[in-house]
Amino acid sequence: MAYLQSKNEAVSHEMIQHALDGEMNRVTIYRILKSFEEDGIVHKVMSDDGVLHFALCNDCDHDHSHQHNHIHFRCTQCNTVECLDEKVSLNLPDGYKVSETNLLVKGYCAQCTQ
Ligand SMILES: [Zn+2]
Ligand SMILES: [Zn+2]
Ligand SMILES: [Zn+2]
Repeated sequence: MAYLQSKNEAVSHEMIQHALDGEMNRVTIYRILKSFEEDGIVHKVMSDDGVLHFALCNDCDHDHSHQHNHIHFRCTQCNTVECLDEKVSLNLPDGYKVSETNLLVKGYCAQCTQ
């Protein structure tokens, strides 16, 4: 799906559907996203309003689960959700093991603070 690759930001189902201009129906898009996710190509990002977004994975593959300890930044000005390269290390109590992280930071993106 070239559309996802062309975007630097995470896109929602609705945005994809809109961009494809009705070329694919909801179910098809959903199925493609699901298989991309299983193949380690995209990962899910839940924005604070509960809308699921999808972003390209950098270095995930089939074998290991999606381990994204990077920040997702949501700009409250232009409403974009981006993957930032900033890695976050969590200090969890002994005995706890992370299987999934969902870090969302809100603020203004570089473009909007200019
Ligand atoms: Zn991933
Ligand atoms: Zn912005
Ligand atoms: Zn991400």
